[in-house]
Amino acid sequence: MSGIRPTGFLHLGNYFGAISNYVKMQEDFDCFFMVADLHSLTTHPDTAALKANVHRVLAENIACGLDPDKVAFYCQSHVHETAELYLYLNMMAYKGELEKTTTFKEKVRLNPENVNAGLLTYPVLMATDIILHRAKYVPVGKDQEQHLEMARTFANRFNHRYGDVFPEPLAFNYNQSLLKVPSLDGEGKMSKSENQMATLYLADSDDMIRKKVMKAKTDSGPTEKNAPKPDYIENIFLLMKLVCPAETVGKFEDDYNNCVIRYGDLKKQLAEDMVNFIAPIRSQVDAILQDEEGLKQIMLKGAEKANTSAGETMKLVREAMGLNYF
Ligand code: ADP
Repeated sequence: MSGIRPTGFLHLGNYFGAISNYVKMQEDFDCFFMVADLHSLTTHPDTAALKANVHRVLAENIACGLDPDKVAFYCQSHVHETAELYLYLNMMAYKGELEKTTTFKEKVRLNPENVNAGLLTYPVLMATDIILHRAKYVPVGKDQEQHLEMARTFANRFNHRYGDVFPEPLAFNYNQSLLKVPSLDGEGKMSKSENQMATLYLADSDDMIRKKVMKAKTDSGPTEKNAPKPDYIENIFLLMKLVCPAETVGKFEDDYNNCVIRYGDLKKQLAEDMVNFIAPIRSQVDAILQDEEGLKQIMLKGAEKANTSAGETMKLVREAMGLNYF
């Protein structure tokens, strides 16, 4: 089970941290993937663009290979049991532990005008989404590690208090370690809403991709053979490994180690491989977005599957909690 907030255009971090794993998992597991529209309300209360953003997230996931026939692909707000389980879990989540969450502190810093209770309890809602389907594996990027730890805490606390209902959810990535796709300026991660010129979006035009890659931070190159790479150069190599053929990466690694690297050439190559990776996804998204009726049918089918699963879990929850009076 996993989700993506409809707060803007999806980017390379969402692709490699999350969606590429969804697409593999759909062949091996019984999967639930959602557009986390309720989560987006914690930071984006204005809903004027919400419908278009929900459509975009649906279309972008499908263009990346997610198959709504193989998984439950749904909108969070279409599963009303979410609100019920969130209520129960909130009574097992303590103010102190929520206030210590790194993402909460970061969001307070970025937006001190809107420190709402939903923002504080974001990890509770996320735990709810996961355990509502009694999910075991949660494909997410490295930025979600702490939230997953909290989801395990809340699931265990419920089990301890009311009896075993939930498995312990684990962060999942086929490549073993969780991934953080860095931003092009060497500062932080690629993100939907921050750092836009340093983030590569799946909707970026070929020229925009070239422009962003060519502006990536580099320096005048190493002066000693086999020198360690500074973080911002390591980041560029990480991006190359994601989209360039292995021999291209190998050639530039050798050039670096022999102090003959030309970052201009490296960035030109990276930009072209990035264009080749993103352009086909972008044009498919445009086609999927044209078909509003198709998107509606996908949401309805996904909601039906998610509601069935949530309904089964909530029966167990109410029984375990003693909320069944007749
Ligand atoms: P964003 O932070 O861009 O708003 P979300 O919070 O909606 O994205 O996260 C959706 C998924 O994408 C999560 O699983 C998250 O871990 C993953 N993700 C987001 N940014 C990155 C990144 N730069 N590198 C790896 N994974 C990421």
